[in-house]
Formats: sequence, structure tokens, C-alpha cells
Amino acid sequence: MGLEDVAYSVIGIVALLLAWVTLRLKRDLLKLNDIIGRQNRRINQLLFQLSREIKNDIQKQRQSMVSFSDEKDSERIICPRCQRTYSSNEKKCPHCGARKPKVTKKDLMEWDDL
Ligand SMILES: [Zn+2]
Repeated sequence: MGLEDVAYSVIGIVALLLAWVTLRLKRDLLKLNDIIGRQNRRINQLLFQLSREIKNDIQKQRQSMVSFSDEKDSERIICPRCQRTYSSNEKKCPHCGARKPKVTKKDLMEWDDL
């Protein structure tokens, strides 16, 4: 066996090794892709659930804090301390003196867009 033959053998073995490593890497990449895809779907699911829960929470909070009268454009405020209602024209609760919740009708309209 001449020196040239040895060189070719070495090149052949290296080529085989490279091919094997490439195949392994490709397989690992495919596996990773699969895992990432599954995680992405899970995250999207969680985000969707979360946004729905947040919307529900806002809805609940909104109902517990302020209710609108059917007439005119005035709003009634439900006092967070004594739970009694009063007009938003008041600076504070006329029943117990608690501060008016910092929620305006404009805020609520914007929340609707969420
Ligand atoms: Zn009050």
C-alpha cells in the first residue's frame, strides 16, 4: 500500500465521519424544531387563555366598581369602602367620605377595545 492509498483511505474515513456527524446534527435539529413547535403552540394557548381571563377580570371589576344609569350620560359610582352608590359629580363618597375610585368612563371605553 503506497502513501497515496493511505491518504485516500484517510480522506474516505474523514468524509464518512463528516457525513455521519451531519446526519446526527440534522436529526437533532429536527427534534429541536419539533420541541420548539410544540412549546410555541403551548405558549400561544396559554397567552390566549390569559388574555381571556384578563378580559373577564376587567369585566368583573368594571361591573363591581361602576354601573351606568340608563338615562343621560351620567355614571353612578359604587364606593369601594361602603359599597353604596353615588353620582360621579361628587368629589368623594357622601356616605363615608372615601375617595372616589380613579376610574373614568373614558377608561372603561378604552378597556372595551382590549
Ligand atoms: Zn362610601
